[in-house]
Amino acid sequence: MPFARSLRCRECGREYPLEPLHVCEFCFGPLEVSYDYEAMHRTVTRASIERGPNTAWRYADLLPVDPEHAVDIHAGFTPLVRARNLGEHLGLKHLYIKNDCANPTWSFKDRVVTVAATKAREFGFDTLACASTGNLANSVAAHAASAGLDAYVFIPSDLERGKIVGSSVYGATLVAVDGNYDDVNRLCSELADKYQERTPGGRRWAFVNINMRPYYAEGSKTLGYEVAEQLGWRAPEHIVAPMASGSLYVKIWKGLQELSRLWLIDSVQTKMSGAQARGCSPIVTAYEAGTTNIRPVRPNTIAKSLAIGNPADGYYALKVMEESGGFGVASDDAEIVEGIKLLAESEGIFAETAGGVVIAGLKKLALQGKIAPDELTVAYITGAGLKTQEAIEGALAEPLHIEPTMASFEASIGDPVRQSVG
Ligand SMILES: *Cc1c(COP(=O)(O)O)cnc(C)c1O
Ligand SMILES: [Zn+2]
Repeated sequence: MPFARSLRCRECGREYPLEPLHVCEFCFGPLEVSYDYEAMHRTVTRASIERGPNTAWRYADLLPVDPEHAVDIHAGFTPLVRARNLGEHLGLKHLYIKNDCANPTWSFKDRVVTVAATKAREFGFDTLACASTGNLANSVAAHAASAGLDAYVFIPSDLERGKIVGSSVYGATLVAVDGNYDDVNRLCSELADKYQERTPGGRRWAFVNINMRPYYAEGSKTLGYEVAEQLGWRAPEHIVAPMASGSLYVKIWKGLQELSRLWLIDSVQTKMSGAQARGCSPIVTAYEAGTTNIRPVRPNTIAKSLAIGNPADGYYALKVMEESGGFGVASDDAEIVEGIKLLAESEGIFAETAGGVVIAGLKKLALQGKIAPDELTVAYITGAGLKTQEAIEGALAEPLHIEPTMASFEASIGDPVRQSVG
């Protein structure tokens, strides 16, 4: 907090005070938090971070919020798993999985919401809201419950059951909108403009990913910091991350760059590869066409958490891809299901559809030689599979169904003793 200086327009560079603003008044460019890195460098060390809590809040000095009043349900500091089996299968010798399923609401969204909810309370908002593809709704509902704030979460009406239950259980008001995420987002942008000041009921609403977006987005940097710290303070050589709006992907890169700027790691040589579902791949399609001009699409994929047809940060994601030498990769729904099963069967990690997108993309990049066997590679698994069971149910073996007798069991599997002897 002491090091955040202003909001800065990503397009024209104009500066604004640290208030609930998100677009530049002059050019309509997005605003981003800027910091005093000189002062930060004098205070922040590896040791000062390592002394912090085992949550995303250990990086509080690099975030634009006051940790004293954190809305904290223990987001972050999730396992970085050495993936030997999957690595062997794909011919990658140094493969790791960043398992962000292990967050309080089972997705990486807890990292962005803990920051946005803290900032919203700091600004005196009394209601937390969002436009969500599912996981954000869960996280906003949970953080609002913990902070004693009201919650209104807006979702496309065709969302998975697990994501609906996973919001309403916390007492949030769930608004299912007939339309896709881009329709939900358009509606919420209008609501945010109006309800930021005051609703008809006299409340003030913070839409975490709209009027709080500059603060919210900074939470994703912790996914860059954490992986570098867990690798013994070094950046991976190759990263594969999922892209919806592109924000997470861009902020992992920003996080790594900041660590290097603070002399906490060497210069960053990481290739940043971004994965999307073929049924909603506006960023990867632009990458493949060699343009930074993103054409919005109408999503049609089982990867609903990534189904943003008009990605707000798509342009910046393409810039990072180009600058870092990474690749864009897209997979169809069958490959996504295979990706979910491959990760579960090789590493014991049950990811949601976004994880299937990442593993399917990782597999393609490895087979095409775009990730070299020796590269230290990290694949980001950002959400848990129990929320999206309908995506894979049809692709799994049914249980063996038996009577409660030895005979019935042995008839169903054959005689295991004789099998192993034979
Ligand atoms: C929201 C989300 C993402 C990425 O979102 P961005 O809009 O690109 O920041 C990735 N994985 C899961 C599971 C998500 O819910
Ligand atoms: Zn501007």
